[in-house]
Amino acid sequence: MTLALMDRKADFPILTRTINGHRLTYLDSAATSQKPRSVIAAMNRFYEETNANVLRSVHTLAEESTEAFHRARVSTAEFIGAAGSEEVVFTRGTTESLNMVARGWGDKFLKPGDEVVVSPMEHHSNLIPWQRLCQRTGARLRFIELNDDGSLAMDHARAVINERTRLAALSRISNVLGTINPIREIADLVHTVGGIMVVDGAQSVPHEPTAVAELGADFLAFSGHKMCGPTGIGVLWGRAELLDASDPVDFGGEMISYVNRESATWADLPHKFEAGTPNIAGAIGLAAAIEYLNEVGMANIAQHGRQLGETAYQRLSQLPGVAVFGPPSPRAALVAFNIDKIHPHDVAQVFDSRGVAIRAGHHCCQPLMHWLHAAATARASFYLYNQPDDIDALVDAVEATKRYFTI
Ligand code: PMP
Repeated sequence: MTLALMDRKADFPILTRTINGHRLTYLDSAATSQKPRSVIAAMNRFYEETNANVLRSVHTLAEESTEAFHRARVSTAEFIGAAGSEEVVFTRGTTESLNMVARGWGDKFLKPGDEVVVSPMEHHSNLIPWQRLCQRTGARLRFIELNDDGSLAMDHARAVINERTRLAALSRISNVLGTINPIREIADLVHTVGGIMVVDGAQSVPHEPTAVAELGADFLAFSGHKMCGPTGIGVLWGRAELLDASDPVDFGGEMISYVNRESATWADLPHKFEAGTPNIAGAIGLAAAIEYLNEVGMANIAQHGRQLGETAYQRLSQLPGVAVFGPPSPRAALVAFNIDKIHPHDVAQVFDSRGVAIRAGHHCCQPLMHWLHAAATARASFYLYNQPDDIDALVDAVEATKRYFTI
């Protein structure tokens, strides 16, 4: 197999680790990615040379820090094709971003009888905020059902989306099924009836080129830590007009324009959504991650990930006693699977004894687990630093697990 990317493991210091006497095979990037040296260095450099609070003081460090923070916002905006950096709100991650839309836009604009459309494959982060929003406002939560292979049933989408639909919230890439959802088609349906399209990009922004306009998104949420950046930083992108119309959800310093004893007015975008001292080092780390990803090339990363995901799926599905989930192709850089009669947690433990890191559990997708009739699954997920020998390690670990439990 000729892969889109050469071996990049040398850029990631952690990948030299030995785990239980074996070379680390890291197959849990859908939970969080590893960090290249350049990201770690950028954050260290910030703390060693520039650290100061932003948007407040006028001393040199504060000005440098404010400038670096602003540049991070500009490169994030460019990375997703935003119309301007004011459309990029820094958050803690996808979860906070989605909650911000539900509260800031949803609470203001939804009323009884309105409908919110999701799917059964959504991560809890893109489900529970909408459940709660519907409970608060009297709106109705509706689901686009799935085909047998785990893809969205588009005929059902056309039936579910109607003139009462105010909002659809869907993941571009499922963190369990590896499906790549046709967001543009759904967005076109939603826009025709006057609704808005919220996209959970937690698994897609790290793995494919993103252009918010082409995607058809009105809001897009993603996390820095899954795209070679640090934890604790993420993004809510929204069309300026929608962000302007939304209410802030956190209140305090730096998000105000004017305050008197009784009331306050809000700062301009994006600051009205960023109350308090932001995660400055996190934003700088995210900008370094974006620089790294741009250097590697997002189109290459997408092709590489799909090659690994599809190959792993094919190889695992050929093994007796192994069930794989989701469509064979096209698929993203992950594959969820189960081994007959062995609990996925036991699978993950045997894997770990061989230095292979995977995730086991419900993956924050309990409704999807019900749909799959599985309590949990194992999941191997790939990123730009994985190579075919990591798939060999995965297949060997499955064989070893079967031998261990003698099935
Ligand atoms: N949505 C999807 C599809 C995800 O995979 C994840 C992370 N597992 C999230 C949302 C939540 O991201 P975070 O925990 O970084 O807020």
